[in-house]
Amino acid sequence: MIIIGSGPAGLTAAVYAARANLKPLVLAGGLYGGQLMLTTEVENYPGFPEGIMGPDLMMKFREQAERFGARIENVDVTEVDFSKRPLTVRTYDDEFTAKTVIVATGASARWLDIPGEEKLRGRGVSTCATCDGAFFRDKHIVVAGGGDSAMEEALFLTRFGHKVTVIHRRDTLRASKIMADRALGHPKIDFLWNTIIERVLGDPTMTGLRLKNVNDGSSYEFDADALFIAIGHTPNTGIFKGQLNLDAAGYIFSPDGSSTNIEGVFVAGDVNDIRYKQAITAAGSGCKAAMDAEKHLEAMEFAVAESRV
Ligand code: NAP
Repeated sequence: MIIIGSGPAGLTAAVYAARANLKPLVLAGGLYGGQLMLTTEVENYPGFPEGIMGPDLMMKFREQAERFGARIENVDVTEVDFSKRPLTVRTYDDEFTAKTVIVATGASARWLDIPGEEKLRGRGVSTCATCDGAFFRDKHIVVAGGGDSAMEEALFLTRFGHKVTVIHRRDTLRASKIMADRALGHPKIDFLWNTIIERVLGDPTMTGLRLKNVNDGSSYEFDADALFIAIGHTPNTGIFKGQLNLDAAGYIFSPDGSSTNIEGVFVAGDVNDIRYKQAITAAGSGCKAAMDAEKHLEAMEFAVAESRV
């Protein structure tokens, strides 16, 4: 078994597969550990009542998988060939074959790519309100974006901030009417329309933003304590195009549990999840994918044994 990806989905699949004696090989990626490696404190992962730092949590996942015999290599997968058996997975230096593959390559939150954003990540700038919202109690919080995610994040953040400002680059929301109405009608949320964020300000933590009104071209500073960027996610599916069925947004299509259009290839985590995108939901789906893959291997062995009788 090969598992591609080493976030909560991939490593949970590895724990289950290793405990089932399947000796999984995890191709973890050069930047292993997934999105939690980019977070500070995780307060909503069950079992850690005091909270745990994202990277520490991922190290624990990894140790647990290795304890049962999973082999983990910090290499990027560059190519797959699922058109024939055995299934083939290539990295820059090697080629691996397997009877079953679990794809758990995740999704990457989109960033604005503006000055100050990277430096202030985890110091005011975040892409996950569920993860980091509670750090900004009674603060002024900004949300960037005009889609359902931005509305959802803004509504969630009203629990913490004394004020939430949504900054959108156009004058019309992309969000569904129900989500837009909720946000537009919320007394704690206000909107800055036709506005782009040019720069994140502050050192060592965020203190404000430099904004530009796209109608009149004026540029000005805007005080705020936190910026939550909710401009969409990109599923990490580039290497699977043309082999695994993807939906319109590029997520792997799996109409029935963790299975895909290729027999023996299973999917888990955010690469297949447009809706929840939580560490705990990814971990749960990793468990399911490993159990489905195990059943698939059993069925293959049974078929081989039958053919010998
Ligand atoms: P989305 O619908 O693609 O919206 C992204 C928003 O970010 C758009 O308003 C877009 O502006 C803006 N944006 C994109 N790039 C930007 C940039 N570089 N600078 C500034 N703004 C930028 O993404 P999403 O909100 O994550 O939703 C993805 C899918 O999940 C959708 O189908 C959505 O309905 C679904 N979803 C549903 C729920 C729910 O129902 N509760 C919750 C979350 C997500 P423009 O409008 O100008 O393009």
